[in-house]
Amino acid sequence: MTATAREVSGAAGDPYLPRVFEVRSIEPQAPQVATFTLAATDSSRDLPFAFQPGQFNMIYLPGLGEVAISISGDPDGREGLKHTIRFIGRVTEALSRLEPGSLLGVRGPYGAPWPLDQAAGRDVLLVAGGLGMAPLRPVVKALLHEPSRYGRLSLVYGGRQPIDLLFAAEFAGWRDQGLQLCPIVDRAGPGWRGEVGVAPALVHQIKLEPANTLVMTCGPEIMMHYTIAEVLAKGVPGQNIFLSLERNMQCAVGLCGHCQLGPEFLCIDGPVFPYPRVARYLGVAHF
Ligand SMILES: Cc1cc2nc3c(=O)[nH]c(=O)nc-3n(C[C@H](O)[C@H](O)[C@H](O)COP(=O)(O)OP(=O)(O)OC[C@H]3O[C@@H](n4cnc5c(N)ncnc54)[C@H](O)[C@@H]3O)c2cc1C
Repeated sequence: MTATAREVSGAAGDPYLPRVFEVRSIEPQAPQVATFTLAATDSSRDLPFAFQPGQFNMIYLPGLGEVAISISGDPDGREGLKHTIRFIGRVTEALSRLEPGSLLGVRGPYGAPWPLDQAAGRDVLLVAGGLGMAPLRPVVKALLHEPSRYGRLSLVYGGRQPIDLLFAAEFAGWRDQGLQLCPIVDRAGPGWRGEVGVAPALVHQIKLEPANTLVMTCGPEIMMHYTIAEVLAKGVPGQNIFLSLERNMQCAVGLCGHCQLGPEFLCIDGPVFPYPRVARYLGVAHF
């Protein structure tokens, strides 16, 4: 059984207390996006950071604040703790100025993970848009660690331009391990030989055995909206579709209400939800 968010939240101990981590490396991924590898500085420094694909941490810079950031590393822990961050505002721009050896605070992991247990024995279709690939990379890693546990594995990944596609250096390896990977961009650049258009249009072309397919999607809500419409039209049951939602998140422990959508707190009930549970909230604006 997949653990519920409330079971997983705060698994690392005191949910309010950031632990001090050191930046080990910073790897540029795309314009204004980099992957940070972090290591604990406390007595747990030699232990892998335990998390489930789809969970996030609150990253803290003293004097500036905290931001919710998905964990983008391999859940087997061998890569260290990885976060892929877009430098968009006050805290994330300050993160962009850090260097290896800098310290920051981390609390987590939080949130409901992707339903990997439910995916066992089924075909799995992942659909990512832009930065939405960050919380799906741990899923790709987990699926490819045990391909015999699942059926056909496919990933449709859309970005604005080829240089915006995250983890592109890993694509060939993922394909060699059996992933059907279909990247698509809004605007092709020199040397691009792949598809041009939007991810849901490519989903339309993917051959599925609908009743036995589990779909996980993360990206801009408009992309998820049309992706879900496509897979529903193909006959995938709504309860086999999971999406990760993003809203303004502050406390991450279900207290402040900033990320609340109707009765759901994205931080502890999500961010990953089965589609039927949140269908009516898609398109409700951020605030
Ligand atoms: C569960 C979850 C997982 C996330 N995972 C990642 C991740 O892996 N990598 C990553 O880079 N970001 C991720 N985010 C988004 C990230 O938390 C925000 O971009 C961050 O809080 C921005 O903080 P800031 O102080 O840099 O920007 P601010 O100064 O607070 O905001 C700058 C601008 O960005 C807008 N903004 C702020 N937050 C968001 C948001 N959540 N969505 C859209 N626009 C926003 C603001 O309205 C403002 O216009 C995630 C968010 C959630 C809720």
